[in-house]
Amino acid sequence: MHHENVVATIGNTPLIKLSNITQGIIPAQVYAKVEAFNPGQSAKDRVARYMIEQAEIKGILKPGGTVIEATSGNTGYSLAMVSALKGYRCVLTVTSKAGQEKLSLLRSLGAEVVICPADVEPEDPRSYYSRAEQLEKDIPNSVYLRQNWNKNNQLAHYHSTGPEIWEQTEGKITHYICCAGTGGTLSGTAQYLKEMNPDIKIVGVDAYGSVLKKYWETGVFDKNEIYSYKVEGLGKTIIPDNVDFDVIDDFIKVTDRNSALRARALARKEGLMVGYSSGSAMDAVFKLRHQLKPSDVVVVLFPDHGSRYLGKIFNDEWMKQQGFLSPQGEDVNPYSYHHMKRVYRVYRRKYGRYIRKTLLLE
Ligand code: PMP
Repeated sequence: MHHENVVATIGNTPLIKLSNITQGIIPAQVYAKVEAFNPGQSAKDRVARYMIEQAEIKGILKPGGTVIEATSGNTGYSLAMVSALKGYRCVLTVTSKAGQEKLSLLRSLGAEVVICPADVEPEDPRSYYSRAEQLEKDIPNSVYLRQNWNKNNQLAHYHSTGPEIWEQTEGKITHYICCAGTGGTLSGTAQYLKEMNPDIKIVGVDAYGSVLKKYWETGVFDKNEIYSYKVEGLGKTIIPDNVDFDVIDDFIKVTDRNSALRARALARKEGLMVGYSSGSAMDAVFKLRHQLKPSDVVVVLFPDHGSRYLGKIFNDEWMKQQGFLSPQGEDVNPYSYHHMKRVYRVYRRKYGRYIRKTLLLE
C-alpha cells in the first residue's frame, strides 16, 4: 500500500486518550485529536488542500498560477506544501509575530515570505491582509485565498475532521473543545457534529486580547478588547466569516501563561509534543472541569506540533523573560504573583488606576 503523493496523506489523524495530565482533576474521558500527525504537522493541511482544489475546480487557479495568503504560519506552510507538489508559486504575508522557525519552514518549501507589522489595524495598508490584497492585484494569474472569509476553510473540516471525530468516538462525543482563529476548524467540525447530535456541547477557545468572545456574547465588535498577546493562531482582531457564532455553546478565554504551561505539561506528562494553542485548548478543558461528569466524552483538538515553538514555549529562557516560569517551577496557578502582575497591568491600561480587585480574578 502506498500513497500517491504527500497531499494524499492529509487527514485521518489519530484520536489519543489523555490520562496522566487529567488524572484526578478532570472527571471525564478526554481525547485529543492530534493534528500534528498531518504531513505539514497542522490542521491547516486539510484547509490548504481543500481551498486549492476548490479554486482549481472553479477555474480561478490555473496551471502556473500563484497562490497568495495572509497567514500566521501554519496555513502558509500547508499552502506551500500543496503548491510545491502542484507547481504553483506561493507568496505569503505573515505578521512579525511569527517565530523564525516558522519563517524558515515556509521558505524551505519554496514559498516567498512578506513580513508585515503585527500591531496595525487590518485596514492599514501595511497590514498583512492589505499586503495580500495588493499582491493579488499586482501578480497576474494569482488568487488570494482569504482563509478568514473563504467558506471552503470550514467546509474542509465539515467534510473531514467532523466525520473523523464522530467515527472515532463511535458517536459518543459529548463535548468538543477547539481553538478559534479563522474559525474554520471550530465551525466546520462543530456543524457536522451538531447535525449528527444537536446535544453535543461546542466550546470555543479564545485569547485575551482577541475580539471573538465579546462578539459572541454581545454582537458588538469592541476594539477595546484588543491588545497584543503571544499565542499564535488563536483569536482575532477582526470578525472572520468562518466563525459560526450560532454553533458555539460556550467560549473560554485563556492566558498566554497558562497556555504555555499546559503545552509543556502535555509534552512532559503525555509525551505529546504539541503547539502553543494546543496548550490553550488544554487549559480550556481544565476551566471546564466543574461542568463535566465521568460519563462525558470530551474531544479537544490540538492544532499543530510543538517543534514550531522551540524558541518560545519550549525555551526556558523565553519562558522566564515572559514571567511564565517562576522560581517554584511549572505550577499552573492563575493567581501566581507573575500572572497577577501581568493581568493587573492589562486592566490598569484599560480601566485606569481605580480598578476593583475582583477584576483581577479570571
Ligand atoms: N492554532 C494554531 C497554531 C493555528 O495556526 C490556527 C490557525 N490560524 C489556529 C489555532 C486556529 O484555527 P482556525 O483558524 O481554524 O480557527
